Amino acid sequence: MATDPSARAPKGTVDMLPATARVWEHLLRTAEDLFALYGYEPIYTPIFEHTDVFVRGIGEATDIVGKEMYTFEDKGGRSITLRPEGTASVVRAALEHSLTANGQSTKLYYAGPMFRYERPQAGRLRQFWQIGVEAIGMAEPSLDAEVIALMVRFFEEVGVPRGRMRLLLNSMGDEECRPAYRARVAAFIREHAGVLCEECDRRADTNPLRAFDCKNEACREVMSGAPLLCDELCEPCATHYAAVKAYLDHLGIAYEEDPSLVRGLDYYTRTVFEIQAEGLGAQNAIGGGGRYDRLMQEYGGPPTPGLGFALGFERTVLALAAAGVEVPVPAVAEVFVARAVAEVAGDAFLICDALRCSGIAAETDHQARSLKSQFKLADRLGARYVVVVGPDELVTGQVTLRDMGTSNEERVELGDLPTIVLDRLGR
Ligand code: AMP
Repeated sequence: MATDPSARAPKGTVDMLPATARVWEHLLRTAEDLFALYGYEPIYTPIFEHTDVFVRGIGEATDIVGKEMYTFEDKGGRSITLRPEGTASVVRAALEHSLTANGQSTKLYYAGPMFRYERPQAGRLRQFWQIGVEAIGMAEPSLDAEVIALMVRFFEEVGVPRGRMRLLLNSMGDEECRPAYRARVAAFIREHAGVLCEECDRRADTNPLRAFDCKNEACREVMSGAPLLCDELCEPCATHYAAVKAYLDHLGIAYEEDPSLVRGLDYYTRTVFEIQAEGLGAQNAIGGGGRYDRLMQEYGGPPTPGLGFALGFERTVLALAAAGVEVPVPAVAEVFVARAVAEVAGDAFLICDALRCSGIAAETDHQARSLKSQFKLADRLGARYVVVVGPDELVTGQVTLRDMGTSNEERVELGDLPTIVLDRLGR
């Protein structure tokens, strides 16, 4: 093991070794298949952007922009930031490439690493992996319900039991009703100055709604008596929120209204939501999102509604582990081709290649292992069948096919081997 600290992954980052990377790819494949049913197409934006994209989009007074960004000056003197989240970049790209010009709409999904300089703990990393969707150009509440349903279905599809998830829902209002409400919360905070923590006192001037998110017990207690936006939504926001809930009811998706759910990004308007999972401790949000009807305007674009969610890979894995769910990743090898003696190594090599050409994940030995060791390796790779290549059988054009589950062995004609294996594998 490396002892030199600089030879280790930086604090808050992890190497995704094959066992985990295969789970990531499984989640990604599940997302691709599921998101395609809802009309989403992939998009890849740069992993870094001009810092301003995040400052303008996410908001100067947020924790992300204020404390957590990896920002640096590049050799050309530009201020560059590693993306802390995906929405700002996708909306920037949609505007730059006119994806929503002339009233068009677009549905996009992305996946990849995000970077936040946070204090690392279980389920909180400095480089973490997200999968997300953005539906841009549509204002109807049916879309809010569709996006929320998609997130719930993703988690169900990968195996998080419905009973272990809580879907929280709130409306953040819009530019009509939120400013007056913000002012009321700021006044409420000032009335309780000294009782709240210093950070919340400061929030009265910077970002009063974030006081609802404070983890401090005393602050939570005080904030539970603060005015609630759901009581003060303007008529269009209230109508929109009611319609989102009605659609979710029709879809049979259970939710809990949480008037204190404000989420940490300034760009949200109207619907916000979050899914929390059991067994994760403090970092229990596995995914979240909301509407951002004013975000494109922040970049100088026309008023363009939008909505999306992002879910975290590491916390999804923790939620699955807490629920005792094993992710069904495919075996490294479906078939292992073993040679009984060294003389038939060339035959085993060609048989293995023929199986691969038939679409079967096959592996063989390249280290002159004993037959016993080859069987051990087959086991480790998860092979369901071992083909034993022996000189006597080869003379008659045959090999032995062993079912590793039942230990049954049979002789099969070499020419029939791929067809027989495919049939046994149910393909
Ligand atoms: P957010 O962009 O903050 O709404 O986060 C969306 C999801 O990303 C969360 O629900 C988490 O699952 C995940 N996430 C956010 N921050 C981190 C982090 N620092 N480490 C690991 N996962 C994170």
